[in-house]
Amino acid sequence: MPLGKALDVIVVGSCMTDLVSQAPRLPKAGETIHGHKFFIGFGGKGANQCVQAARLGAESAMVCKVNHKSQWLTIVTSSISSTFYQTSNAATGAASIIVNDAGENAIVIVAGANMLLNTEDLKDIQASLSRAKVLVCQLEISPQTSLKAMCMAQESGVKTIFNPAPAIEFLDEEFYKVSDVFCCNESEAELLTGCPVSTVDEAEHAGQNLLARGCGAVIITLGPQGCVVLQAKESTSKHIPTEAVKAVDTTGAGDSFIGALAFYMAYYPTVPLEEMARRANRVAAVSVQTMGTQISFPFKKHLPSALF
Ligand code: ADP
Repeated sequence: MPLGKALDVIVVGSCMTDLVSQAPRLPKAGETIHGHKFFIGFGGKGANQCVQAARLGAESAMVCKVNHKSQWLTIVTSSISSTFYQTSNAATGAASIIVNDAGENAIVIVAGANMLLNTEDLKDIQASLSRAKVLVCQLEISPQTSLKAMCMAQESGVKTIFNPAPAIEFLDEEFYKVSDVFCCNESEAELLTGCPVSTVDEAEHAGQNLLARGCGAVIITLGPQGCVVLQAKESTSKHIPTEAVKAVDTTGAGDSFIGALAFYMAYYPTVPLEEMARRANRVAAVSVQTMGTQISFPFKKHLPSALF
């Protein structure tokens, strides 16, 4: 199904059903513990990022693959302007998420139908992709599909954001070259560089390492410490602090940040990247203050006008 209208943001990525249990702490191996709440939500890094961009006002589309009986077929369009999805006999991806009382989480994802989205499927969206402003990809679908989408976008002059998550140790070097913005969190930066990343200085060091691999810019998110921003055209790295808030559930904070960044890149392309990151920090901080993933992401109408 080709997408009709010109879009601000296209996300080629994952859709998952989130199975979320809240418990006082994360269980150890072999242990069973009592939790106090369970709910089912819509997630997947791709869909999360797309929903956040859409909630800020971007015309956004999701390119994904789900099971033919998936609730995504009816529900996804409630937030996102257009959807391109293909159905499959494989199960829709699922994420088993445990959130402890400190708001930390442990997650197992089973990608299912997500892994069947292939490079052939991308031919159907070529025309729409070439007219979009920003493409966002992650690694919850086949890396070849993500890389192909990023190459197609770059050839058409569409800005790209790549989120190398979930982290893998050996990432095809081409990903760096086709990333206008390479955005990851501390643990992903650690795995990719082999360097520790728990302080701002360490993040800046790891960011230089990633930047040298060929991306236009690198952003490493640092939870309550905000993020660091490094750009190839400048020799300095900048720490963008944020006001730390008490987190209830940090699941999807990075996705909220990236969805917001995609919105700002599409809507305010002349705003400096550091300022976009500062605003994305503020959006993501809202998302950690309530339970759930997509359900915790703020809409434009709930945010201060200074962010727009
Ligand atoms: P991930 O969800 O990928 O682990 P982070 O934990 O780095 O990503 O969080 C992403 C962004 O969310 C941070 O850069 C920050 O802007 C925001 N954030 C996360 N936790 C907090 C917090 N406790 N207070 C304020 N902002 C937060």
